[in-house]
Amino acid sequence: HAIYGVEKWGKGLIEVTGGGEIGLRNPRAPEAAAISLPGILKDLEERGIRSPMVLRVASYLESEIKNINESFASAIKRTSYRGKYRGVFPIKVNQQAQVIDRIVEFGKPYSCGLEAGSKPELVIALAHRLPPDALIVCNGVKDAEFIRLATLSRKLGFNTVIVLESPKEADTVIEVYKELGIEPLIGVRVKLTNQISGKWEESSGDRSSFGMNTDQLIRVVDKLRDAGLIHCLKLQHSHLGSQVPDVNDVRRAVGEACRYFTELTREGVPLTHLDLGGGMGVDYTGEKKATENSINYSVGEYCDNVVETVAYAMDEAGMDHPTIVTESGRAVVATSSMLVFNVLESTLYDAPDAPEVEPDDHHMVSDLAAVEGYLTPARLQECWNDATFYRNELRALFRRGYVDLRQMARAERIYLRLMARIKALVAAEDEITDLDDQLEKLADIYHCNFSLFQSLPDVWAIDQLHPIVPLQMLDQAPDRRAVLSDITCDSDGKIDRFILADGTSPSLPVHTLPEEDEYYMGVFFVGAYQETLGDLHNLFGDTNVVTIDLKPDGGFELLHEQEGDTISEVMAYVEFDPTDCVAAFRKMVDEAIAGGSLKANDRKTLMSAYRDSINGYTYYE
Ligand code: PLP
Repeated sequence: HAIYGVEKWGKGLIEVTGGGEIGLRNPRAPEAAAISLPGILKDLEERGIRSPMVLRVASYLESEIKNINESFASAIKRTSYRGKYRGVFPIKVNQQAQVIDRIVEFGKPYSCGLEAGSKPELVIALAHRLPPDALIVCNGVKDAEFIRLATLSRKLGFNTVIVLESPKEADTVIEVYKELGIEPLIGVRVKLTNQISGKWEESSGDRSSFGMNTDQLIRVVDKLRDAGLIHCLKLQHSHLGSQVPDVNDVRRAVGEACRYFTELTREGVPLTHLDLGGGMGVDYTGEKKATENSINYSVGEYCDNVVETVAYAMDEAGMDHPTIVTESGRAVVATSSMLVFNVLESTLYDAPDAPEVEPDDHHMVSDLAAVEGYLTPARLQECWNDATFYRNELRALFRRGYVDLRQMARAERIYLRLMARIKALVAAEDEITDLDDQLEKLADIYHCNFSLFQSLPDVWAIDQLHPIVPLQMLDQAPDRRAVLSDITCDSDGKIDRFILADGTSPSLPVHTLPEEDEYYMGVFFVGAYQETLGDLHNLFGDTNVVTIDLKPDGGFELLHEQEGDTISEVMAYVEFDPTDCVAAFRKMVDEAIAGGSLKANDRKTLMSAYRDSINGYTYYE
């Protein structure tokens, strides 16, 4: 199982158990043995909860929140920083109530707050009792209604900061102040010029869509001063980006943010909070490198770099140390969710045996079969070339009508048998040749019970890599290589890039599917962004979602189950009324009975098949 690199990316939380299964370690009881994930699935299945499902582990969420806050606390202590740290969780990264409620609960000891990027997210934030000194940071484009609610929430004791994205928003804030007579808490979003490398490069630097340049910033400061509200401008927001791969980029960007902070302070703005936005990355591949899906720093190093840079800049300017705010989303929530699905069937690209050539088969069929006669390790490439040539010729002959369907099927099977022998000989060779790459294209297709578009949208849209690994049989050598295809009817619905111990690969080592048992796959670190970005392609809806907690004795507790969408629910999303559809179907059945093409006693069977489907899960059951 070393091939999967679980030890590299598993963060000490996900590992392979002695029984060859993926196990989950309990961060609250590091000494306890890992609990088997297939064991958890079996238990859930007995309770009627089936895959595909998202499994959320509450203790992982708690441990990430603890880790980030304690790392900032120790960086503050070590550098004798004279300010505090306050985290706010950006709701957009996972808006699910089960997640937000737990983040608020686990964040209480650290006075964690929330970040809202829209009116609905502000409404969610304001439904939570936050600690007295926690913040609600409002980003994004804001109309008067948004600003009115944020301002009014001050009356309930919320520290709701309205972060101005433009001079126009400053005008609205001033108007709402005049209307309500309540002083708002104001922030300004400053656009940094430093561009940060990585997948989200575009979200930083001069051309990023959010934040103000120096000219706009000065206009806002002047407007607020003229309106007598400059004393309300407390926070500077400078978003670093997302999934920042290189910690030196963090240093540079924080340094630039501090320049604005000290200059604004010199302008007489009484800033107290420096908000550095998101960006703390997740090491999806476990490489510990500054690459798109990895990062070259730990949580501790990120916090040290931020605190040291701010301390240095403020000391140099002879200024007080501000409260440091970050809006880490991905780093808080990605680890806590995993997607689990079963493999439904496989399309194999080799065969264990081949049929005899028949006397009237085209001579190309016997040429193809003859390749096996000279197949030796020394002539592997030649045999591959010949087999591919004869098969392509036969396909051309079939298209022109010279070869019939049964001959073509025999040729296909002879070819697949040759591929089995070639694959076995290549696997036995130590030397890596071009053939290894060519054979990758002949990986099996494992058809899996999930929708890429619903459950892993970033894999489809932006080539995000997540660790993917079979959950069982890991004490046996994988004997096949596969790409994973989803249950949608879309050829884009496949995964063909995988994280392995020694790099990425276009196919995943897998086992021949067991005859009786389910073969489960796990996709890890899916807690950030995936759930609400997912769409209803082919009307595959939300999967079942289960929240569990790991118990110190090695067991688990089921905290919450959210049933996946039924077919009637997804129909309603696209404005079909399920009741109308049942009525329309019933009418057709009755007409068929009246017309004599259906017997009266077929009515019950047809109607219950339709009703059962409408009330069922959208996935393969
Ligand atoms: N804050 C703001 C303003 C953002 O736009 C984002 C996402 O891009 C975040 C926070 C969260 O970033 P991350 O998930 O990388 O921590």
